[in-house]
Parts: sequence; C-alpha cells; structure tokens
Amino acid sequence: DYALYHSKERKRGSTTLFSQEHEDAIRAERAVESALQSADLAAEMEMHYQPILDTTTDRITTVEALARWTSPKLGRVPPDRFIAVAERCGMIHSVTLLLLRKALADAARLPAEIGLSFNLSSHDLASPETVLAILAAVRQSGLDPRRITLELTETALMRDFEGAQQAITLLRALGIAIALDDFGTGYSSLNYVHRLPLDRIKIDRGFMADVETDLGRRVVSTILDLCQNLGLDGIAEGIETREQLNAVRRHGCRYVQGYLIGRPRPMTELLESLATPTQPIAV
Ligand code: C2E
Ligand code: MG
Ligand code: MG
Ligand code: MG
Repeated sequence: DYALYHSKERKRGSTTLFSQEHEDAIRAERAVESALQSADLAAEMEMHYQPILDTTTDRITTVEALARWTSPKLGRVPPDRFIAVAERCGMIHSVTLLLLRKALADAARLPAEIGLSFNLSSHDLASPETVLAILAAVRQSGLDPRRITLELTETALMRDFEGAQQAITLLRALGIAIALDDFGTGYSSLNYVHRLPLDRIKIDRGFMADVETDLGRRVVSTILDLCQNLGLDGIAEGIETREQLNAVRRHGCRYVQGYLIGRPRPMTELLESLATPTQPIAV
C-alpha cells in the first residue's frame, strides 16, 4: 500500500527531524555557554533603556534597563537566552552584578526625577550573597535607592518564597521599590501577590494583544482592579498601538510601557529623546 508506506516514511522522517532539532538546540545552547564563559562581559554587554510613561502627566517616570550582548563569536544573543544559560552554568551572580553596575553608572546621567528599573534573575533573590552585593553596588553608586526598582518574576518567588520575602523586605527597607514582572503568565500569581510587600505589578504584554476585544478588555480591567485593591501601581507592558493605550487608560491604568512610547535604546539616545520636544503621547 503506497499511501501507508508513504506515511510511515513521513513519520520516520519527522522523528529524525525532531531529534535533529533537539540536537541543534543542545549544540546552540553549548555555543552560548562557551561564548559566555570566554566573553569579555564588561566589553561585550551593554544596557538599553526603555521608558515608562505616566499617562496622567505625560512624563517619563522610569526607564527599564534591558541587557544587550553582542558576542564576537555569535553576534547578538537575546537576554532571555543568555540569562537562562548564565543561570544554568553558574555565572548568573557575576552577570547580574556586572549589568547592575553598568545600569547604575548610566543612571547617574538621568534627570533626578527619573528612576531606574532593573530585572533580577530568579536565582538572584535566593542567594544572600547576591542580595548583599546588590545592596553594596547600590550604595557605591551613590544613586538614591528610592529611584531604583527591582523587577522580579514569579519564578523567583516560587523558587524560595520565604527567602524572597525576606530579601524583598530588606530591599524595601532601604527605599528600593519592587515590581512583579510579567504578571499573569505564571502559575499561581493570585496565590501570593497579596502576601508580598510589592510596589508595582507589570501586566504582561501578552494581554495587550487582546485588549481591544471585549473579553481581553475585561481580563486587563480585572488585573487593574486587583492592583488598585492591593494599593499597587499597575504598569501595562507591550503597548504598541494607540488603541491599546486608550483601552488600558479607560480602565484606569496610569503607567504604560511599549514600542508606542519608546523602544529600548542606549542611554545617550534616550537622553537625546528626552531633550527633544515631541507631541504628547497620552492625550
Ligand atoms: P521583560 O523584563 O519583561 O522586558 C520586556 C521585554 O519586552 C523586552 O525584551 C522589551 O524589549 C520587550 N518589549 C518592550 N516593549 C515591547 C512592545 O511594545 N512589543 C514587544 N513585542 N516587545 C516589547 P528583551 O529586551 O528582549 O528582554 C527579554 C527579557 O529578558 C526581559 O523581559 C527580562 O526578563 C530579561 N532581561 C532583559 N535584561 C535583563 C537583565 O539585565 N537581567 C535579567 N536578569 N534579565 C533581563
Ligand atoms: Mg522587566
Ligand atoms: Mg515583563
Ligand atoms: Mg519577560
């Protein structure tokens, strides 16, 4: 039976293809790992900054630092990928501190009314050495800790809830704000969001894709109600269109971030854009 034979061939073919893909993925991962281990991190890593807008004043309140790595061997490697590899190969502590020091140095160039938001890896809070080194780096930078926000993901909290709780309490006692990043993408957000001393919630950009549909709007508006009830600032991530901006604003979202407001870029370019008068975004 030709058809049966053919489909068996196809199946076998796709199995081969699958394991080939798997092998390729492992090889790519090893390539990132070895490039990372031999990298001159200080020279190859750079931070870009994306603005967060207060829609009630049309002013930038904060910039989020986003890591950019250009490896001489591999070219540009996205942060999601190299952070995950650094976590697995035990380099995350030094990578986090290197990136944080760069961000703090750049932040000295910002006007005093603009804050810095920095992403932590889920491993960072679980390591007391890392938390102490973060505090030391902040102190050394001379930047007012009240201008700093640290962004955490749910994975960080699930790894060691009590440890995270203690670290957050310590950081907040020094004036550092804590944001829960990518809210709504984890497994049990509602289980602990009220049990942690948080300052802000960043609503994952995945929700913005549907914010113009009735159901999507209701989901976003429910999350914003939750923020309000808990006394937390809600920040809508991934705002790309004016329609999305209007939709979240109608539901009382004060802070927004996304390509519509500005793309991540080097500090010098960001400062230039702040100095260049533009049309108000949130009118
Ligand atoms: P994140 O913290 O949720 O950062 C937001 C991501 O969404 C960034 O991707 C940003 O460039 C992208 N983005 C912002 N606005 C828009 C938009 O309107 N549309 C779309 N499609 N995307 C938008 P990026 O820079 O590739 O970073 C990805 C993730 O890597 C970050 O997600 C964060 O979890 C991690 N990451 C980045 N920098 C660092 C870092 O310095 N340390 C650690 N531990 N993680 C970092
Ligand atoms: Mg973030
Ligand atoms: Mg996010
Ligand atoms: Mg993310």
